[in-house]
Amino acid sequence: MTKQELTARDKGYCQTYYYKSIQERKCVSCPKPAMPGILKCKKHRDYGLAFAKKYRAARKAAGLCTVCKKPAKKAWRGRMMCLKHRNLYLQRAKEAAAKNMALGLCRRCKSPAKQDRTMCQKHLDEVTAYNKKVALKRKNKN
Ligand SMILES: [Zn+2]
Ligand SMILES: [Zn+2]
Ligand SMILES: [Zn+2]
Repeated sequence: MTKQELTARDKGYCQTYYYKSIQERKCVSCPKPAMPGILKCKKHRDYGLAFAKKYRAARKAAGLCTVCKKPAKKAWRGRMMCLKHRNLYLQRAKEAAAKNMALGLCRRCKSPAKQDRTMCQKHLDEVTAYNKKVALKRKNKN
């Protein structure tokens, strides 16, 4: 067998194993049953999550954007992002909100929005409570 043939065979084997795992609802990294909705057992899911967390924490500590590794200076909403990715994130959130609003859905959670409002009751209450808190803070300052 040539090197190329070997690579193709290995690839085929990996794919077969992968699809077999999915069909049998087994973890793709070990023979244990996979958790519903994901392709990993609890151990391997936790392993993946811990790795992602550690990776993000390391980036954050180093002051690097979690998306592109460029210097980000400071965390924003608990995430380390450079200006470019922060703007992209904001833009996507804005677009998603506009889409929801056009469909008459809450711009925060996609539940049906209250009539003539852009948010569901739960989020309207949340915003009202938040505004009250801010107003109270301002009042206490003066
Ligand atoms: Zn596993
Ligand atoms: Zn970035
Ligand atoms: Zn909502």
